[in-house]
Amino acid sequence: MKIAMLGPVGIGKGTQSQQVTQRLNYTRLSTGDLVRDHIEADTELGRELEGYYERGEPVPDDVIMDLVRPHLNPAGAWILDGFPRTMAQVHALEEELEKRHIGLDKVIVLEGPSDEELIERITSGRRQSLATGRVYHTEYDPPPNPGEGWDPGPFVQRDDDKEEALRRELEAYHEEAEKIKEYYDEQGILAVVNADQDVPDVTEDIIAALGYPEERTPRA
Ligand code: ADP
Ligand code: AMP
Repeated sequence: MKIAMLGPVGIGKGTQSQQVTQRLNYTRLSTGDLVRDHIEADTELGRELEGYYERGEPVPDDVIMDLVRPHLNPAGAWILDGFPRTMAQVHALEEELEKRHIGLDKVIVLEGPSDEELIERITSGRRQSLATGRVYHTEYDPPPNPGEGWDPGPFVQRDDDKEEALRRELEAYHEEAEKIKEYYDEQGILAVVNADQDVPDVTEDIIAALGYPEERTPRA
C-alpha cells in the first residue's frame, strides 16, 4: 500500500508513521527528515533551506518534489510523513505516481488537539534521537534509559521546536489542509483519525483505518 500521513505539527505524524512502519514492515519517508538531513550535512541545498526550516516556513514545492521523487518506489509499501502539504504538491505527486502507474491507497489525517495543545506538547519535551531519528517525548513517550533500549540516543531538541516557528508551521498547515482533505475525500481514500488519545491507541486506529485486521500478519 502507498500511504500519506498528514496533520499539523506536533500531532504525532513522526511517532505514528514510525510505529506503523515497524508494525507493518513499511518504508517511511519524512520530508521534514529529508530537509533536516541536508541541513545537518551542511550541503549547498541544506544552506538554502535552513532559513525556511528555522522560521517554520514551507520549503518551495519544487525543492520538496526533487527530494521526494527518487523515493517513490512503485513496488514498495511506503508511508509519506508530512507530504503532500500543499495542493501544488498534491498535483505534482499525482503526476509522479501516474508515470509509475501507481497511486495513493490511503491518506490518513491526524486531528484532535488544539494548536495551543500541540505547541505545549512539543515545547514541553519533544526529543529526537540522533542515532535513529526516532521521536520521543520526555513525559508522554519517553526515550529508553541509556543501555536499556535499542536506541542509544543522544536525544536532542530540534532547532525548529520554538514557539514562533511552530506557530508559522501551524498557520501554513491550516491554509492548505481543508482543500487537501476535500480532494482526497472525493477520491474516497481519506481517513481522519483521532490523535487526541495515547500513542498506542492512535496506532491501533490507524492500523484499523488501513484495513488491517488486528493481530494478522500484514501483506504489503
Ligand atoms: P509531528 O511529526 O506530527 O510533528 P511528532 O510525532 O514529532 O509529531 O510528535 C510531537 C511530540 O508529541 C513528540 O514529542 C511525541 O513524542 C509526542 N506525541 C506524539 N503523539 C502523542 C500522543 N498521542 N499523546 C501525547 N504525546 C504525543
Ligand atoms: P516537519 O519535520 O514535518 O515538522 O517539517 C519541518 C520543516 O521542514 C517544515 O517547517 C518545512 O520548512 C519543511 N518541510 C517538511 N515537509 C515539507 C513539505 N512537504 N513542504 C514544504 N516544506 C516542508
